[in-house]
Amino acid sequence: MSSQHGLPSDGLSPSGMLDSEQFRSLAHEAVDIAAEYLATLPSQPVYQRMPSHAIASILDAPLPAAGNPARDVLETVAAEIMPYPMGNGHPRFFGWVNSPPDPIGIVAELLAATMNPSCAGGDHAAIYLERTTVRWLMELVGYPTDGSMGILVSGGSMASLTCLAAARHQTATVDGWSIREEGFQGARPPLIMYVSSETHTTVIKAAELLGIGSTHVRMIAADRHYRFDPRELARQIDRDRADGLRPFCVVGSAGTVNTGAIDPLDELADLCGDEGLWLHVDGAYGGVGILDERRRDLFRGMERADSLAIDPHKWLSVPVECGCAMVRTGALLRDTFSLVPPYIRVEEGKGIGGLPWYSEYGFQQSRGFRALKTWMTLAHSGRDGLARVISRHNDLAASLVDLIRESPDLELVEAPVLSIVCFRYHPRHPELDDDALNAINKRIMEDVQSDGTAFLTQAVLRGTFALRANILHFGTTVEDLDTLVSAVLEAGARATHRERASVDGPEFHGASNHHERLNVRSADEQ
Ligand SMILES: *Cc1c(COP(=O)(O)O)cnc(C)c1O
Repeated sequence: MSSQHGLPSDGLSPSGMLDSEQFRSLAHEAVDIAAEYLATLPSQPVYQRMPSHAIASILDAPLPAAGNPARDVLETVAAEIMPYPMGNGHPRFFGWVNSPPDPIGIVAELLAATMNPSCAGGDHAAIYLERTTVRWLMELVGYPTDGSMGILVSGGSMASLTCLAAARHQTATVDGWSIREEGFQGARPPLIMYVSSETHTTVIKAAELLGIGSTHVRMIAADRHYRFDPRELARQIDRDRADGLRPFCVVGSAGTVNTGAIDPLDELADLCGDEGLWLHVDGAYGGVGILDERRRDLFRGMERADSLAIDPHKWLSVPVECGCAMVRTGALLRDTFSLVPPYIRVEEGKGIGGLPWYSEYGFQQSRGFRALKTWMTLAHSGRDGLARVISRHNDLAASLVDLIRESPDLELVEAPVLSIVCFRYHPRHPELDDDALNAINKRIMEDVQSDGTAFLTQAVLRGTFALRANILHFGTTVEDLDTLVSAVLEAGARATHRERASVDGPEFHGASNHHERLNVRSADEQ
């Protein structure tokens, strides 16, 4: 059935796509929905569990045979999807490492999809913009730009995978063989990688995927402030060499996910230089912490890394997804990944023009226009604006520490280096053992999460279950921290009451009960 405009009566053009006027009006409505969402979010609960009918209506929805008018589709999104967010847009969301979206990044996503380039390569604006975006990111964190190369990827996981692939390739090349041709099929001494006990699990995953194998990843016990211990590292390298193995790579962290610890990168760089090992630095969360002048010294050595992973979608509030892999010897990254038919291969400044294709520097062929949202964020805030936000978050972390110290029933588990605070509820009365305290704090986390007042997650530090708050929201205030602390104290009193009742009461099943309830997951899943 067709209307008088030749359109089917469902409002769709014969192709099924919106025409430009329909797009304009629908997009305006979508912007109103988005603006209203952002404006009202702070007065909503931080997080709410979805009612089962809402889950079912999403999960059980049948594939539509006939399409639906675009406005109906938009209304469904507004009514059934948008009321149930993860929570990370809220100023009292302190969980994992999930920032709110910078509004300018939201606008960028619309415009990027409007242009919809594939950033595999070619001679168009998106490609040049990615070059500049990566250079700006390098300059932002003080990584040398001359001769380096970087590529935007999905996040820190892919950034580390990309960088470690380069490390593996270089090691084989130095040893006179080709990992790309032989894989790990030849009989050669195993390559050994070194991480600390606080290294993010995605690095281990990358090592597994690259064929290193997790048994060849040496996990060096971190020091008492959760930093890489270079002396223990040196001893382990010696042992491995004595055993005929092939040490090749050390992974340092610039801001661990549990506590925000920054490894002694300068010492690691010295050691790697002496030993001929590749130094990769995971700065997914904390790398941009270097923008806080007061912390700058802690990052000394990051600029010497052979490769560096940075996540603009963490502390820079670029909408998910955007990570950046940086490699000091840019040509090496191309050698690691370039596998292109001659008709695609271009040389800078020669032929029809354009830069070498990004698909030669990473695993992806078709690639999204991640540069635009990152570029717009950097262009809008500038280095100074970003430095202000980051410094403010570190100040707020210090304010949270003050609130914790002022409260007799709270204790700091690890002092923050950046914007992550690990603390716990620890009432002076009654006396509680470690198992009970762990169980109570886990209960507090769950209560606070489901209550919707604030949202925090956990870190298990040397067997202690800590409440972990990561301050990443540009709108968070000291009042929000006050609210968080009150919510924790209230939940703590309730949990203590329940814990005592269960210990004294008939359902007490002995100490293993606590372990069962604790059932902690690794905090690395963030
Ligand atoms: C988030 C994070 C990662 C993983 O990055 P994704 O963006 O989630 O892929 C790795 N390391 C650290 C320290 C992180 O905070």
